[in-house]
Amino acid sequence: MHLSRFPRLRFAHLPTPLEPLDRLSEMLGGPRIWIKRDDCTGLASGGNKTRKLEFLMADALQHGADTVITQGATQSNHGRQTAAIATKLGLACHILLEDRINSADRDYNYNGNVLLDQLHGAAISKYPGGTDMAAEMEQRAERLRADGRKPYVIPGGGSSPVGALGYANAALELVAQANDMGLVIDRVVHATGSAGTQAGLVTGLVGVQSDIPVLGIGVRAPKEKQEASVLGLAQRTAAHIGLKTEITADQVVANCDYVGEGYGLPTAGMVEAVTLLARAEGILLDPVYSGKGMAGLIDLVRKGHFHKGQNIVFVHTGGSAALFAYPDIFDLPGYTA
Ligand SMILES: *Cc1c(COP(=O)(O)O)cnc(C)c1O
Repeated sequence: MHLSRFPRLRFAHLPTPLEPLDRLSEMLGGPRIWIKRDDCTGLASGGNKTRKLEFLMADALQHGADTVITQGATQSNHGRQTAAIATKLGLACHILLEDRINSADRDYNYNGNVLLDQLHGAAISKYPGGTDMAAEMEQRAERLRADGRKPYVIPGGGSSPVGALGYANAALELVAQANDMGLVIDRVVHATGSAGTQAGLVTGLVGVQSDIPVLGIGVRAPKEKQEASVLGLAQRTAAHIGLKTEITADQVVANCDYVGEGYGLPTAGMVEAVTLLARAEGILLDPVYSGKGMAGLIDLVRKGHFHKGQNIVFVHTGGSAALFAYPDIFDLPGYTA
């Protein structure tokens, strides 16, 4: 696997730190939990989309783009990171936001990532939940082309074989760090949504024959659907890289028991996980992805899914900007006398 064969821009802060979560591990009394700080990738408060965008934006520039179009949920972290790098590269940015939770809440609709999208100068537009967002992006691109612009469409979450190269690269980075530290990784755990992160990680970890299994904690789709979309994208990513090894279904595992009522809707486990990490480790998770991912990891540790002496690496995919879109879900004490 030789990823420098692919066009890439360099704007992520890499390598991200790999650190032990000693207080959390001690409180849970199970395996040793580590955190891979992909919330610290540097772009507009960080997150996992930045690694994908290094490859996607290089591809956009190679195609002569002057505008990028992408889509996501209202509080899309991907939209925010795309807006930040687009403006730095001198590209116009259109973000199409889908109101998946049908919310009239002011913070949800204007604060958090939505505030930052606009601060970075992106044009945002809003669509009802259930809209065919890929079709809307194509229509927008058509209109821009008719105006003489050169749009480049980035799929939701940056999850294409090109975007997933960012996480194949993250897998190489993680294995190199672990080797340097003498750390044996028993499992990698992270929140999985549009599938690019898990697909890239699995492809990279299989590509270097690391034998490190990945567990994705789902935030939207049921297990069968999530695993199928990760597997499909991992196979396309492996083909794009030119891997000789086939990615197989047993290498793609998702646990979708922590979604709760639906995408972007709070769960008690998420609130507990976000609060616990903030207080035990000084680390900010988010309500939509990493909070549910960590809720899954905590619950699985409590259920004895992992053993003492094992090393579990939680990939912190970012998203803390969305905390400001959900201020009321945390039971906070307010001012004291
Ligand atoms: C997008 C996102 C994820 C999920 O990554 P996918 O590649 O879409 O599966 C996880 N955490 C955060 C904070 C995200 O923004």
